[in-house]
Amino acid sequence: MTTLYTLSLPELTALLADWGEPAYRARQIWEGLYHHFYASADEFTALPKALRARLAETFDFAPLVPAAQLASKDGQTVKTLFRLPDGLHIEAVLMRYERRNTLCISTQAGCAMGCVFCATGQMGFQRHLTSGEIVAQVMYYARQLHEQGERVTNIVVMGMGEPFHNYDNTMAAVDRLNDPAGYNFGARRITISTVGLVPAIRRFTQERRQVNLAISLHAADDALRASMLPVAKAYPLDELLAACRDYAAATGRRVTFEWALIEGVNDTPEQARLLASKVKGMLCHVNAIPLNPTAGYGGKATSRERAERFKAALEGAGVPCTIRLRRGIEIQAGCGQLAVRG
Ligand code: SAH
Ligand code: SF4
Repeated sequence: MTTLYTLSLPELTALLADWGEPAYRARQIWEGLYHHFYASADEFTALPKALRARLAETFDFAPLVPAAQLASKDGQTVKTLFRLPDGLHIEAVLMRYERRNTLCISTQAGCAMGCVFCATGQMGFQRHLTSGEIVAQVMYYARQLHEQGERVTNIVVMGMGEPFHNYDNTMAAVDRLNDPAGYNFGARRITISTVGLVPAIRRFTQERRQVNLAISLHAADDALRASMLPVAKAYPLDELLAACRDYAAATGRRVTFEWALIEGVNDTPEQARLLASKVKGMLCHVNAIPLNPTAGYGGKATSRERAERFKAALEGAGVPCTIRLRRGIEIQAGCGQLAVRG
C-alpha cells in the first residue's frame, strides 16, 4: 500500500475521477493533508463516510510509525526513529535554534556510498525511500509543531542516505512539499546535500529548482578525498568542482561545501589553502563541522583552535567559512550521523 503523500494533485484528481468522485474532493483531501495535517482517514470529517472508508482501504495512513524518540539535554534537538512498513528504520531530526525549526530528513534506509566516517555509510544500503515516505517525515513534525502554534522553517535533506542516488523520489518529494496547492513550503528554505554525484548535479542545475545545494567535499585533493569517500574515485575533484562552478554560474546561487574536520587528516592550513585555490572565484561558502566520532571510524574531531586556524586560512585566501556547532551531538543527531542503534 502506498501513502497519499506519494501522489501529486493531478494524480489524486485522476484517481478520484476514476472512483466517480467530484473534482473538488482532491483539493479537499489535500487541504486535510497539508493544511490540517490529518494523519488518519477518520480525521477527514468533511468527506462522506464511504469515501473515507475507501481511502482507508486504499492508502497507508501510517507509513512512518515513531518507534523511539530522543531529545538533547536542552530539549532543542529531537530525533525520531521511524519504523517503515517493511520493518526497516529511518530517522529524522528537528533542531530548534533561535526562531528556526530546522528539519533534517532521510532519503534512503542506509546508504550505498560507504563514506568511512559516516554511521549511515557504515550500515550499507537497505533501500530507497518513496517520495511519500520522504514527505511523511516533514508532515509528522509539521503536525507536532502546528499543535504548538509553530511551523517548520527550514528543511535540510541531510539525514540517512544519498539524495542524488534516489533522485526521482527525492525531487518528487521536494516538488510535493513546494506545491502551492499543498504544503507550499518555499524551495529556497530547502537544502539538499550530496556526496558529489556529478551527472545528478548537472541534471539538478538544468532543472532550475530554487532549492539550495550543498556538496560534501571534506578534502581538497583526490587521494585524500577518495580515502574518505569511495565515490570520489568515480568523480575526480576537477569534474566535481567544474559541475559546481557551472551550477553557481547558471543559477546565481551560492554552493555550500561541507567539511567534517578530522584532526590531522583534513584540518590543516595546507588543505584550506589548496581548497581556496581550487574554488577561486566561485560563488561558494564552506560549512565546517568537527567530526562526530562513530564506532566504525578511528578519526578524531578537530579541536576548536585547529578549526579556527582552518577557517582563518580559508578566509585569508578569500573563501568564507563557518564553523558549525555540534548541536544535539549527545543524541547522535548530527545530520548524516544518523544510525539505528540496538
Ligand atoms: N548523503 C548526503 C547527505 C547526508 S550526509 C551527503 O553525504 O552529503 C550529511 C552531511 O553529514 C554530509 O556532509 C556528510 O559528509 C556529513 N557527515 C556524515 N557523517 C559525519 C560525521 N560522523 N561527522 C560529521 N559530519 C558527517
Ligand atoms: Fe551516504 Fe552521505 Fe553518509 Fe556518505 S556521508 S555514506 S553519502 S549518507
